[in-house]
Amino acid sequence: MRKPLIAGNWKMNGSAELVETFARAFAETTLPASVEVLIHPPFPYLQAASEAFAATPIGLGAQTLNPLHAGARTGEVSGQMLKEFGVEWVLVGHSERRQLYHEGDEAVFDRVIAALGVGIRPILCVGETLEERDAGRTEEVVLRQVGYVMSRLEPAQRRQLTLAYEPVWAIGTGRTATPAQAQEVMAAIRAYQAGFDRELAAELRLLYGGSMNASNAAELLAQQDIDGGLIGGASLKVDDFIAICQSA
Ligand code: PGA
Repeated sequence: MRKPLIAGNWKMNGSAELVETFARAFAETTLPASVEVLIHPPFPYLQAASEAFAATPIGLGAQTLNPLHAGARTGEVSGQMLKEFGVEWVLVGHSERRQLYHEGDEAVFDRVIAALGVGIRPILCVGETLEERDAGRTEEVVLRQVGYVMSRLEPAQRRQLTLAYEPVWAIGTGRTATPAQAQEVMAAIRAYQAGFDRELAAELRLLYGGSMNASNAAELLAQQDIDGGLIGGASLKVDDFIAICQSA
């Protein structure tokens, strides 16, 4: 059975105070034993979060990493540095990174390799734009993004990967994919994985992301191929985020 995973992506939001609020609330909350919870705060809060979340079930993730270990890359942070702060997970290929920072499939792959190299588990984000969906190219785009990375990994590396399907048109727009729309694409991703490795396809965790909130989470998470969520906006409100975790 695949363990549900609920990951909160704070993006460039949050504060030291929000870290404390989450630590306090989660220390007092009982979650279903089966659910795994992550918060991906901005870099400056990682140290405080690593300490504050130690007494809670919240695991720590980063939002990106540079593929190099060290060097002349002003403003960047390496996987090795993240590892020092107790980071166990990292988002790779988020559509905001792909679009705003021009990270293409190769850049995404390099980051997956860098994360795996230091023992941080990558959450590979994929998803189509509205234009691509309207042109009937959803599966082609999503499977290309997945395939570019998967086909270049060793079987043991593939097993370290978690995938997040995030239709770009649903991110931060309040326009969630319907459970049926999400399930259709996510079933296609799993079927594609089965082409590499049947066992892996059955074990691979697939998260849905894009305007998931406390009201729609249960219905999305009830879909056969949705094993969790990658939550942006609703992960900044502790009560909403806890409600999502409880519905997993
Ligand atoms: P959203 O963001 O929940 O605010 O739509 C999701 C994401 O970008 O990971």
